[in-house]
Amino acid sequence: MARIRLDHIRHAYTPELAKAGNYALREVDHVFEDGGAYALLGPSGCGKTTLLNIISGLLTPSEGSIRFGEEDVTRLSPERRNIAQVFQFPVIYDTMTVAQNLAFPLKNRKVPAQEIETRVADMLRRIGLEAKANRKAQGLTADEKQKISLGRGLIRSDVNAILFDEPLTVIDPHMKWQLRSELKELHSQFRMTMVYVTHDQTEALTFADKVVVMYDGQVVQIGTPEELFERPRHTFVGYFIGSPGMNILPCTLEEGAAVVSGARVPFGHDGSPKNAARTELGIRPEFVSLVPRGQGIPVSIARVEDVGPERIVRAELNGQKIVSVVPEGMPIPAESDIAFAPGALNLYADSWLVEGRTRA
Ligand code: ATP
Repeated sequence: MARIRLDHIRHAYTPELAKAGNYALREVDHVFEDGGAYALLGPSGCGKTTLLNIISGLLTPSEGSIRFGEEDVTRLSPERRNIAQVFQFPVIYDTMTVAQNLAFPLKNRKVPAQEIETRVADMLRRIGLEAKANRKAQGLTADEKQKISLGRGLIRSDVNAILFDEPLTVIDPHMKWQLRSELKELHSQFRMTMVYVTHDQTEALTFADKVVVMYDGQVVQIGTPEELFERPRHTFVGYFIGSPGMNILPCTLEEGAAVVSGARVPFGHDGSPKNAARTELGIRPEFVSLVPRGQGIPVSIARVEDVGPERIVRAELNGQKIVSVVPEGMPIPAESDIAFAPGALNLYADSWLVEGRTRA
């Protein structure tokens, strides 16, 4: 396994696009530590696959370099990078049996027959296909075929990294959870460097130790699920992580307060958003509470939605939408104010978090 260093990577698909400043990756400068489990998370078109293909060698970046350990691999072919890949759709040999498919990457590398047998048996057990070991892959379901693909990626012990490109897309919803847990367990056992591309936040947050959030061709934050939830570095992270996402409220700053849609919110901050064109307050709906009229900021309640053990309250403050999540069973008077939990407010200047402590 290897540490992967992406050194000031930029990529445009054609020289014309580069000339027009149209980069699929605007700048990525990042290290994937040896043995880490990472997820690349972001909406369609943000550059996840481009970045993954640069790591695997299917693409050469327009600018910057990539190193595995000490070796510069920027211009090495995928074969010479010694990487295992699992794609969205299973890549397996239909005419081979399940066991033969798993054995194939080991045979290619001339692993001794006895060891192949042991490792194939172990992998069959892990992916739950022992009973079908001798069946041809042809007749299997999409789930089962993708499990073979996963098994083929995981069975090699000599790879620098394993890359997953939305591997659970074809898997039945009830199987997804099981396979994700299995992957996580395999990772903690073998400490392989894994990079997992997805646009599904649940998949990213449950699989990865560190989530790399991408937006519009750049990495906007790398963090643990807790960091992404509590201190989003960019308003996009606040909006994209969490359900519902963070409230992002345009504001102006005054001495000791932020003004949101004409309402004064007591607020102070150590940092200073110098020369910002736009300032915003970010607060998670979980930290917006409903209080009796007269005790907070007056709002009108537009809608209440029941979602299991919680209720989502959609309020409006002079046209500004504000979402609150309250426990089920809590009374919601039509005439309510809202209050923001002290310490849960983040300040953003031109979409980026202003570092420093807040005082409510
Ligand atoms: P998805 O989740 O839909 O796969 P993604 O985050 O993986 O999206 P990419 O496929 O990396 O995003 O695409 C990043 C940008 O590069 C997009 O604007 C896309 O249109 C563009 N792009 C991707 N492949 C090419 C190509 N071969 N030629 C030109 N532009 C491309």
